Amino acid sequence: MLGLFKSAKTAQPQYDLLINGETRATKSYDLICSPFDLSPVGQMAVASMGDLNDAVAAAKDAFPGWAATSDEDRQAACGQIAKIFEDNLPDLSELITKEQGKPAAGGGGFNSQFEVGGCAAWAGATASLAIEDKVLVETPEVRAIQTSVPLGVVGSITPWNWPVLIAVWHMLPAIRAGNTVVIKPSPLTPLATARAVELMQQALPPGVVNLVTGGGEIGAAMAQHPDIAKIMFTGSTATGQKVMQAASATVKRLTLELGGNDAAIILPGAPVEHMLPGLFFGSFVNAGQTCGAIKRIYAPDNMYDSVVEALAGFAAQQKTGDGLDPDTMIGPLQNKAQWTKVKTMVADAIAAGARIATGHEQVGKGYALTPAIIADATQDMALVADEQFGPALPIVKYSTVEDAIAMANGTEYGLCASVWGADKDEIDAVAAKLEAGTVYENTHAELHPMVPFGGHKSSGLGVQFGQEGLASFTNTKVIYERLAPPGTAG
Ligand code: NDP
Repeated sequence: MLGLFKSAKTAQPQYDLLINGETRATKSYDLICSPFDLSPVGQMAVASMGDLNDAVAAAKDAFPGWAATSDEDRQAACGQIAKIFEDNLPDLSELITKEQGKPAAGGGGFNSQFEVGGCAAWAGATASLAIEDKVLVETPEVRAIQTSVPLGVVGSITPWNWPVLIAVWHMLPAIRAGNTVVIKPSPLTPLATARAVELMQQALPPGVVNLVTGGGEIGAAMAQHPDIAKIMFTGSTATGQKVMQAASATVKRLTLELGGNDAAIILPGAPVEHMLPGLFFGSFVNAGQTCGAIKRIYAPDNMYDSVVEALAGFAAQQKTGDGLDPDTMIGPLQNKAQWTKVKTMVADAIAAGARIATGHEQVGKGYALTPAIIADATQDMALVADEQFGPALPIVKYSTVEDAIAMANGTEYGLCASVWGADKDEIDAVAAKLEAGTVYENTHAELHPMVPFGGHKSSGLGVQFGQEGLASFTNTKVIYERLAPPGTAG
């Protein structure tokens, strides 16, 4: 089988680069281990700069042919890819759970089966989008038609939290619009993406989608590469800023989906008991490692204790553990750095006067922590002010709704926010004042392939999904035709 065989040395499945339709072994391999129990999962080829240049050259060579295929053929390829994800859902989702940690079946529905199902859904939705010319001006003298042309080679740099779904969000609209792709998954979770790219070759000519691996130096080289026309980046704001700077030399197109510090405001009178699953899983989706998850909750002072108690009670019922166990609702943090970051933020908050209402206990020998509800949190604590990206949710008390809005907006981030209440007018009034790309009402962390998604402020640049997301993979090209000399027609 392409790129997947047992290495004699370590007996770990081996995954290779994919360049111009062929797998490529390399001199060195990284061992990828389960974040739950640190057992080996597989080994991934590490790319050199030469491999990156070969992948970009393959994508550049494939571009004219792919750009010239009909829209119908590219729609059909996206549809075929959707079917490939459906057919391979069990194996791919198990591999995601093993290397990334999220539950295979639990997780309040946000599990690895959901991730692969989402890949199929997004691929299918991308196939259904239209790329049409628009007649902008039509008079007896002049006709102007707006068309869309693909950009060239798209470089995709993906993170470790939703490795395959985010890869699909990057790759599918790119190829749908006639571009070719070089993808670099996070070195922490490259295996399922490598397998997915290998499977996608069945639907694509060689060179249309290529995969390299490696760390920040390969990502940085992609951001500067003269033959890459656009970078799709999902990751931290700090790295997104570096990508933006590096991309300026070649005026690359950019879509940046960066961090978030989403606030949820619970309004006075909100029926919190009925909202617990939405509030909890809106926060602890993928153990909190989701850009658009609730990262802090603001609760009115007269409901504060009951909100903390209700959320702590709900959290304490959720099983934390190995994602492969069907009863697991909360999997591990994906990596040691993230585990250390969350533990440090919680320790600092406790030292500054916060209290653990429940959770924050170690499970197993890897990076699993039980979901923590952190009471008596205040705006100045790093756990509230920064993106914790883990299973520790601070609850902040407020006196007036205006104070809650000010605290919710008091951040460099602006990805999503939510308002929870019983009165539609009150909810709408708060939603109008929240500074975020998506404001949810009585829900959070829901995405739809037809609905644009992107951050305000330092949470990103541009949007993904829907017609607007697809348009970001094209250049506008206008055909402006003079039909008769000025003043002569009509
Ligand atoms: P980063 O943003 O640092 O990394 C994301 C990807 O970019 C990785 O593949 C990384 O490779 C690569 N990269 C690193 N440096 C460069 C560069 N100069 N140019 C181009 N690409 C580069 O995320 P981290 O994994 O370090 O996570 C840190 C924090 O980011 C988290 O705690 C969380 O707050 C946030 N985050 C947000 C995500 C989101 O969905 N918006 C997803 C993941 C993290 P390498 O890993 O080798 O450095």
